[in-house]
Amino acid sequence: MATNGALGRKLKMGIVGGGQGSFIGRVHVTAAVLDNRAELVAGAFSSDAARSRASAADYAVDASRAYASYEEMFAREKSLPPGERIDFVSVTTPNHMHFPVAKAAVEAGFNVVCDKPLTLTLAEAEALAAIVAASPVVFAVTHNYTGYPLVRQAREMILSGELGDIQAIRAEYIQGWLRTRLEAEGQKQAAWRTDPKKSGAAGCFGDIGTHAYNLGRYMTGILPEKISANLRIFEPARALDDYGHAVIRYENGALGTVTASQISHGRENDVRIQVDGTLASLEWHQENPNQLFVRKNGEPHRIYTRDPNAPYMNATGKAACRLPSGHPEAFFEAFANIYRAAYDAMELALTGRPFERTNTIYPNIHDGVEGMYFIEQSVASSKDDGAWLPLRHPLARH
Ligand code: NAD
Repeated sequence: MATNGALGRKLKMGIVGGGQGSFIGRVHVTAAVLDNRAELVAGAFSSDAARSRASAADYAVDASRAYASYEEMFAREKSLPPGERIDFVSVTTPNHMHFPVAKAAVEAGFNVVCDKPLTLTLAEAEALAAIVAASPVVFAVTHNYTGYPLVRQAREMILSGELGDIQAIRAEYIQGWLRTRLEAEGQKQAAWRTDPKKSGAAGCFGDIGTHAYNLGRYMTGILPEKISANLRIFEPARALDDYGHAVIRYENGALGTVTASQISHGRENDVRIQVDGTLASLEWHQENPNQLFVRKNGEPHRIYTRDPNAPYMNATGKAACRLPSGHPEAFFEAFANIYRAAYDAMELALTGRPFERTNTIYPNIHDGVEGMYFIEQSVASSKDDGAWLPLRHPLARH
């Protein structure tokens, strides 16, 4: 895709996190440059200044723009002329640092792509949403499963009524990597994810349950009403949930379930969603992301393959494809679709033009706040023996 003519150059990216030994920062950078519309020019790659500098070389970032802290990066970059300074910041730190980093970035006038969950607490998420609403910046949240072409195809099919009235939404995210207490063995990603000070009120439900919940909201657009949840810690001495179910009542009368596990033997990143409508049902699995199953009673089961040229693909699904059918597209490309849509908005923002802030194709701050409300209400419901609690947040997109 071409760069926006009005900007006439690549966007300049700064990253917080992504240092040596980390996971998702590298994915962000790879996805961010996939369309040749951005380049990584600066980073505060680690909370450790020496490691931040050492990590810069791995990304071919000039040593002069490898910063000891995000505060230093924002102060220095802000002082550079437009076109030279960073245009946006990707926040790829553990959860407890999302709020301070994202807040400082927005206040410094930088657009933000923040990983999920949005913040450590709902109160932080609401405060951040207010700051973003009063600012001129674009704010995207990487609920990256929304970037898959067949997820967008399904969304468009549901929103245009092809499935009829939606009555049931079953979303799951099943992993097995925390079957043992990896956190006690010094595994870094496990350590912060099971520490309430760094992860937040929930473990598994915050880390991956939010993705499953977001997928149902994104695909159907149906607003939630109430939630009843049961979370469990099955691995002894762990501080946060490693398994849980939630039942959700939606405003249109639909029922939903979210199941998240990090203790299921042999399961990898099994994100799956099934939606039942009065006219048809559909099913999508992220471990087989180039197929979407659509079924109607009395008819042969249909398998939609990801194909930008197929007449059965809608415009939204086609627009999310990069390769001809049969060449698998997956995690990086879906991630890049979030960036691509956020870039369209950033290019408008940076040239002083209006841009959509709520009903965007990419997940935004509203979805981030909703994710935090989902986490806090799930934890509160579970502590109260599965009590039904409200789930419609005033900032929910609708
Ligand atoms: P990680 O522990 O592998 O990496 C975190 C990085 O942040 C490290 O490089 C660490 O040094 C750095 N960091 C920590 N504090 C910092 C600070 N103050 N300044 C600069 N850098 C700092 O963690 P991860 O698995 O990559 O997860 C990071 C975030 O991404 C989490 O919020 C997680 O929930 C999210 N995540 C999202 C997805 C997804 O699919 N969207 C997948 C994995 C992780």
